[in-house]
Amino acid sequence: MALGKDYATQECSIARALEVVGERWTLLVIRDALYGVRRYNDFLVHLGIPRAVLAARLQALTAEGILEKRRYQESPPRDEYVLTDRGIALWPTLRSLGLWGREHFGESRLRYFRHAVCGTELGPYGECPVCALVVPVPDVEMTPGPGLDLDPADPVSRALLAPRRLLEPVDMDPQKPAGPDAPRKSPGAEAREPVGADAHKPVGA
Ligand SMILES: [Zn+2]
Repeated sequence: MALGKDYATQECSIARALEVVGERWTLLVIRDALYGVRRYNDFLVHLGIPRAVLAARLQALTAEGILEKRRYQESPPRDEYVLTDRGIALWPTLRSLGLWGREHFGESRLRYFRHAVCGTELGPYGECPVCALVVPVPDVEMTPGPGLDLDPADPVSRALLAPRRLLEPVDMDPQKPAGPDAPRKSPGAEAREPVGADAHKPVGA
């Protein structure tokens, strides 16, 4: 018997949320959208996801008001997918989930997330312990950690090596020549020493 998509017997808001974001790949699509990925092909190369699955996830997330489809080119018509406020509100959940994964399954540190205003690493709920506030998502700066591959094969991963704010669109326009400020290889190799102490940082990283 096929597994149902919903949790009809569950009177629970976690179950309700999982009906929307609990399918395989869905949270990773949202993660990428937080990182600034907007275009179908960019999700495709960065996630390595089957095309039909990606199309279904984008459609479902749009129908649920988590992503909004925006036309960015008329001929041929091309749309991009941008997080709505409802989608952006998932950031603290993803932040917590990422920390939980690293703490309990021994993942090495792949990225740092800091409050861009003061440079402090975020706490587990997206808060800045120094400024004592939940950091607005556009003020979160993302930089590579010691466990991140600094020479990835796909162009989206390469673009994401540069320090950037969350939601800042990943610019993958091939028409635009890369300037001297847009190196294609390992721009994060000179990654700064993290501001916050990190108990999980591998020795010698
Ligand atoms: Zn701060």
